[in-house]
Amino acid sequence: MPIATTNPATGETLKTFPVLSFHEIQTKISLADDVYQKSFLSLEATQKKRRDGLLHMAELLIDQKEALGKLITLEMGKTLASAIQEIEKCALNCQYYAENGLQGLNAEPIPLPDDRRRAEIRYLPIGTVLAVMPWNFPFWQVIRCAAPILLSGNSMLLKHASNVPQCSEAIENLFIQAGFEPGVFQSLLIGSEQVAFVIQDVRVHGVTLTGSEAAGKSVGSLASKSIKKSVLELGGSDPFIVMPSANISRAAEVAVKARMICNGQSCIAAKRFIIHGKVYDQFKKYFIENMMKIKMGDPMDPSTALGPVVSIKAREELHSLVMDAVGKGGRLLLGGKIPEGDGSFYPATVLDQVPKEARVIQEEVFGPVAVLYQVATLREAIKVANSTRFGLGASFWSREEDEISTATHQIQSGSVFVNDLVASDPHFPFGGVKSSGYGRELGQVGLREFTNIKTVVNSRE
Ligand code: NAP
Repeated sequence: MPIATTNPATGETLKTFPVLSFHEIQTKISLADDVYQKSFLSLEATQKKRRDGLLHMAELLIDQKEALGKLITLEMGKTLASAIQEIEKCALNCQYYAENGLQGLNAEPIPLPDDRRRAEIRYLPIGTVLAVMPWNFPFWQVIRCAAPILLSGNSMLLKHASNVPQCSEAIENLFIQAGFEPGVFQSLLIGSEQVAFVIQDVRVHGVTLTGSEAAGKSVGSLASKSIKKSVLELGGSDPFIVMPSANISRAAEVAVKARMICNGQSCIAAKRFIIHGKVYDQFKKYFIENMMKIKMGDPMDPSTALGPVVSIKAREELHSLVMDAVGKGGRLLLGGKIPEGDGSFYPATVLDQVPKEARVIQEEVFGPVAVLYQVATLREAIKVANSTRFGLGASFWSREEDEISTATHQIQSGSVFVNDLVASDPHFPFGGVKSSGYGRELGQVGLREFTNIKTVVNSRE
């Protein structure tokens, strides 16, 4: 895939970038490693400096949020309002780790039954970490993993998605402006076929990938072949379950928001709406009414709620899923037609009565397409929720405590949000189970993913 900025709203390619040579990649890896080695010798001072750097980074992000938001919208097509929110969330993440990170890295004494020995756990950096990142939240995905990884004393190399090179370079510039040493965070403009070269380098000690299942399989196996730590944040097909006791009009309103995050292209967007039969018709009516209100258009226009999907290729793929569902007997309740004109726009689309064998049921649907399911019991709802190979997030709507307790326990996912949509937050660990990946980002658990959890036992002579 060429490294280029192509505006999804017009289809116009505005700028292309050469990929780095293998020699240039090696020079950047050397620099990252040198910085890591030096930083490790004065780790406490390094961590304090980086904590201050994160606070500065938070200020810079807020000061530049309009310009950075425009860059996101230009390169990947989400609405400008949501792009600015993304930048604000990055600032919150930097602030969270600046204020709460260092205490999570403090050595912890281990109580022992005798006083002959003292023992402690230390959380030390491991070296240079490669981050392979997606385009859908081009700042958030990077900042959410970079803040804790850098704070603990590691260096980071970023291989960003090929369609967001300007976002990639902007993030490196921000880290430099925020006072991080040159080389601590470097953007590598490389293709996915060059990722193996970086992972195999002995000076690279871990890799974190956020992206599709296919990329996860490839990067995860490369990491394991080189015996390197990996975290995989992959796709999802999140269920949104509504039981009869829920506030149905509110559930339907939130359901539309949950489906349409990032023009429908979020890993944790709700994708399957599993509704109890007693409230199915009511939910469907409210849901479709809310979907119909969504205005599609220029993502830079503040009145637009739905911008284009990322590319013409992505739109073709999305439309083929819809057509496959209809061809197999699913009902098209709204949308489903490619609009005239430039850009990769696709309308808000709703399907129901889709048979199990349709691809839309089995695969991750990345775009503004919702599938409604009708179920008779909570048990059936949970069975349908667990019936895909994914397990990222889940949203469950009910006012019955026993139902909430059963669902939060039995749904196979990395998170369950009750009476709300699924959203990542610096305070909570985030990640998936099954084919949605492994490892966690965010919170104190995320902070320690790329640390050497070192046991030190000191016995008296
Ligand atoms: P993608 O095609 O998998 O690309 C993600 C990154 O991996 C890009 O930098 C890409 O580079 C690289 N890549 C792709 N194939 C690779 C390979 N075989 N070896 C090495 N690197 C490879 O995914 P995307 O389209 O950018 O993002 C959408 C996907 O990300 C969805 O599945 C979504 O659910 C998932 N996602 C998950 C989370 C989460 O937290 N779980 C968050 C956001 C997105 P190129 O661009 O150069 O191909």
